[in-house]
Amino acid sequence: MSKNWYPIINYKKCTKCLECVKFCPHDVLFEEDGKPVVKNPNLCVDYCRGCQKGACDFGAISYGGAYAT
Ligand code: SF4
Ligand code: SF4
Repeated sequence: MSKNWYPIINYKKCTKCLECVKFCPHDVLFEEDGKPVVKNPNLCVDYCRGCQKGACDFGAISYGGAYAT
């Protein structure tokens, strides 16, 4: 995985509401077996944080890669 910024889902906190899947307009997140999966990390927009701030009410999304804090 060469991308420097992509979401990481903490499945211990995730309630499987799938709001993040609906929210992201960049086809990064998909539903699989009823839970959100980071399918295309390379399509995530650096520093976006949209799914973390705009969709997830449960603190289940953080970011990985060299730029992530
Ligand atoms: S940070 Fe932005 S581009 Fe990346 S998965 Fe979340 S909403 Fe999509
Ligand atoms: S918005 Fe948060 S709680 Fe809901 S499915 Fe996505 S990661 Fe899980």
